[in-house]
Amino acid sequence: MSKVPGPIVLMEPLSGKTSLIIKINAIHVSKRSKYQEILIVDTDDYGRTLVLDDYIQSSYYDEIYYHESLVHPAVTTHPRPSDVLILGGGEGATLREVLKHNTVKRAVMVDIDGDVVELSKKYLPQMHQGAFDDPRSEVRIEDGFVYVENALKRGEKFDVVIMDLTDPYSSEIAKQLYTPEFFGKVKRLLREDGIVVTQAGNSFYFPEAYDYVLHGVKSNFPIIAEYSVWIPSFGYAVNFVLGSLKHDPHSLSAEEVDKRLFERGVRAEFYSGKTHIALMNMPIIKKILRV
Ligand code: SAM
Repeated sequence: MSKVPGPIVLMEPLSGKTSLIIKINAIHVSKRSKYQEILIVDTDDYGRTLVLDDYIQSSYYDEIYYHESLVHPAVTTHPRPSDVLILGGGEGATLREVLKHNTVKRAVMVDIDGDVVELSKKYLPQMHQGAFDDPRSEVRIEDGFVYVENALKRGEKFDVVIMDLTDPYSSEIAKQLYTPEFFGKVKRLLREDGIVVTQAGNSFYFPEAYDYVLHGVKSNFPIIAEYSVWIPSFGYAVNFVLGSLKHDPHSLSAEEVDKRLFERGVRAEFYSGKTHIALMNMPIIKKILRV
């Protein structure tokens, strides 16, 4: 670790034109991997923080809002999720949340960058909390696109696919996993009542990218849920898009969500029946352009 002597700051780009300026107290990792620039730093307001190619991926003080919101609406909506695939998710926090559901027998996490996974194991223990060592976990260092193509050839099936990838506008490596064609492949990898969910960046600052992801999911799945959650270290509310082949997250009552969480032994800090109802009913934030 190198202690930072003076006022060193991190610029988190909200768009190409607006940034969040964050004071850094210590730098633990600064490395260029084969795929991206990896930075792990300590900040006052957000705690330990993972940054890839200048974009904050997750921070200790607010990661539960992101990871619980990404995972639980989809996994809880599925009545018996057994096989779950995570594309991306390098820090292991998405895996940690998936494994909380005791119905899950197999959780495959596929991240393209082995350096992110290894550095997260060492410097971000609060993110994975041992999830990588769970006997139900299978971690593959591979391009998620290639994994899905090969899994289709092998005839593998999943109940839920969770896409925790870098944003379509911040990195080249994730781009081809946000296309309508790729969502079509994900659909074929799912069982007949499967569910996909993806983080979708931000609908206010990056409306075209958001609409593109939404269109990709909509053109393959009959049931759609759009929701968002404010993540302080991102400087905005992150958007999520869920596509489902049979089960509608909007039709779950708060009581049913709480019952499923209890029966599956899920202890969540943010997500609950009431949170589920709130997420499913919040309108999406977009720029209001009046002429
Ligand atoms: N919370 C996040 C955000 O705000 O964008 C995502 C976090 S997670 C760390 C993103 C991960 O996606 C990274 O570890 C990156 O290596 C991985 N990734 C990017 N493109 C990928 C691909 N094509 N296949 C598999 N993993 C990929």
